[in-house]
Amino acid sequence: MTPVQLGRLTVRKLFEMESGPPMSMILPGVTPQDLARLAPWYQDDTLGATVDQSLCMMSMHSYVIQIDGLTILVDACNGDHKHRSIPDVDRVETPFLGNLAALGLATDDIDVVLCTHLHFDHVGWNTRLENGKWVPTFANARYLFSKREFELFSREEQESDHLRAFRDSVVPVYEAGRAELIAEDVAVHREIGDGVWLEPSFGHSAGHYSVLAQADGEPALFWGDIVHHPVQMVNPDMLMGFDEDSVLAREVRLRTLARAADERMICFPAHFRDPSAGRVMRDGEVYRYEFLP
Ligand SMILES: [Zn+2]
Repeated sequence: MTPVQLGRLTVRKLFEMESGPPMSMILPGVTPQDLARLAPWYQDDTLGATVDQSLCMMSMHSYVIQIDGLTILVDACNGDHKHRSIPDVDRVETPFLGNLAALGLATDDIDVVLCTHLHFDHVGWNTRLENGKWVPTFANARYLFSKREFELFSREEQESDHLRAFRDSVVPVYEAGRAELIAEDVAVHREIGDGVWLEPSFGHSAGHYSVLAQADGEPALFWGDIVHHPVQMVNPDMLMGFDEDSVLAREVRLRTLARAADERMICFPAHFRDPSAGRVMRDGEVYRYEFLP
């Protein structure tokens, strides 16, 4: 993705890695008709002629927003050295920090970290291993976590990768005094309509928030995990395997796609492959996605 300039707002992508579980596992409702409808505008060598031959190939990346001298990181990927049950992301070492340096940024330059939700693939780089301890990667940053989601994970007892991530990538930030537990509708910088602000989008997870930004230019939407893969555009009604509340998640997905199209937002999905950023366009009853050049 080339840097996107929207008025006073600059958005750049910070790539970590890709991962492609079977399509039938992530989006069990995908049909051959969906793949056929997707094919004219989305070519991807991990999509086959049938659902069984297709992967749900997803990119893991952060976005770096710069506005009025402030540098904001949206989502924090998987992180290095973290123990997970999924082999693709277990104790990985990725070029994430090198890619940050390639953007001309040091970890100390990040002022704010926004995690759309606290799933393991959105919090990993919140911390890094230093002398056997997890310490905040971005030592100067305020980390804004959903209070609702933080409290739920604090009470959670069922072992999972998300709970492991909470322990190694969220709690150490909190204990270091860098976390702010927030309602999911706060202004992060300046005000709604001119700056960066959050809106609740519960469903995929209990405290999921979307990040919106606008500053003398087109509106930007960072929708986190509301939509995972372009095939959901042609069938936004279908359930996604890892939505915590699938009914609510579907409502949020339908509402978000309609709004993104009607308000001509520039979208920055958490998991679309390069070039990632684009516009949602109406296509009859459903949608297609127009990637930015
Ligand atoms: Zn995710």
